[in-house]
Amino acid sequence: MRVFKFGGASVKDAAGIKNVASIIQQYGEKNLVVVVSATGKTTNALEVVIKDYFDNKDAKAAFDVVKQNHHQICVDLFGTDAHAVFDKLQNIYAEVDWQLEEDRKESYNYVYDQIVSQGELISSVILSAYLNEVGASNSWLDVRDVMKTDDTYREAVVDWTKTQSLMDSIVKPMATDSIVVTQGFIGCTPENCTTTLGREGSDYTAAIFANMLDAENQTIWKDVPGVMNGDPRVFEDAVFIDEISFNEAVEMTFYGATVIHPKTIKPLQNKNIPLLVKSFINPEGKGTKVGGNDNNLPPIRIVKNNQALITLHTKDFSFVEDEVVAEIFTAFSAANLKLNMMQQGAISFEAVVDNIPEKITKVKAALENKFNFVIEEHLTILTIRHYTNLDYIEKFKAGKKTILEQRRPSTYQGLLQ
Ligand code: ADP
Ligand code: ASP
Ligand code: MG
Repeated sequence: MRVFKFGGASVKDAAGIKNVASIIQQYGEKNLVVVVSATGKTTNALEVVIKDYFDNKDAKAAFDVVKQNHHQICVDLFGTDAHAVFDKLQNIYAEVDWQLEEDRKESYNYVYDQIVSQGELISSVILSAYLNEVGASNSWLDVRDVMKTDDTYREAVVDWTKTQSLMDSIVKPMATDSIVVTQGFIGCTPENCTTTLGREGSDYTAAIFANMLDAENQTIWKDVPGVMNGDPRVFEDAVFIDEISFNEAVEMTFYGATVIHPKTIKPLQNKNIPLLVKSFINPEGKGTKVGGNDNNLPPIRIVKNNQALITLHTKDFSFVEDEVVAEIFTAFSAANLKLNMMQQGAISFEAVVDNIPEKITKVKAALENKFNFVIEEHLTILTIRHYTNLDYIEKFKAGKKTILEQRRPSTYQGLLQ
């Protein structure tokens, strides 16, 4: 059994979908689960629909743009607008239109998931129909029939026991007969409401499938040759890395390397399933093996933008002792806001977090009785793993103000402005 994941960039248009289909066809007719993301920037476009809906603007007009994009992709793929795929898409669209007509505005996060999830349903229906068209018979799986989660909308937590049992009873028999095409990113509550696993979550979906199906390996097909020692869009001199360990991958993604979703590694490491990061542009390329060795790794650079530094000062000059630290951590954890860097002083505590205003507001509300709360925005964390010498770091800091720095033998982190 193998699991493939194709991200938005790989299926952004008809040419992309044809390329994906040809990759799938090279790998056989069964024992292959294909997890697909929404096409191109569809998830962002659906976020606009949701925003317009809540702002009482013309959300249907914003959704028409999404429909139009997919209509064009299908006409380009099937050469007609009379194919059966158009009816299937109409059914999905009708559900969204119906939601947008509803006046009853439930919680933002709930509505967000009901609408944003449609991107993956649409793309998987199109990919499955195109594969059938070119003779790669496959079964389309509604992932919500197996991926069971709690109701933390937008950051749903997977119920491993229920999901495993459904994987055994539904997916395993399906995959022994044919290729399975399904959606990344989305799941379902026990009440049958759609959830999502967090933005960019399709890599994670694929890893859950790989774990539960005891796959031989998982491949995520990207627009880069594999894992490099920095995002090539940021670092022109970035070089390809042959293989890295699970440990290195988990560290890199934790610090913000966006090439792999951070939650992807654990399900694979737990069953020692290698992750291959390969290029859909050059499928013959070797790709990076995650789950291998770290041989002479070059310095790996990670840039995390849009950071906020929160400085907490105790109002009454009481020390930041264990209980106070516990209170601070509880507030961040309750808001689901991860601490990317932190530093403690006698009567102060500094936390660097992703600048997500609604979460920061929650933290502030929980702590402002006891602390003065100061926020500095528009900051960047530069992380360098395996830095060879300090000059190397200086080169990146040149021309920037350093606000906070932390150095361990393996890892440098600087908060820069
Ligand atoms: P997907 O299509 O699966 O959503 P992403 O766009 O999320 O793919 O991930 C691929 C992108 O990750 C690349 O285009 C690249 O810009 C970025 N990236 C960030 N860090 C790295 C890295 N260390 N190595 C390779 N690519 C990286
Ligand atoms: N389509 C979702 C997103 O853009 C999930 C993914 O691509 O992994 O966040
Ligand atoms: Mg992505």
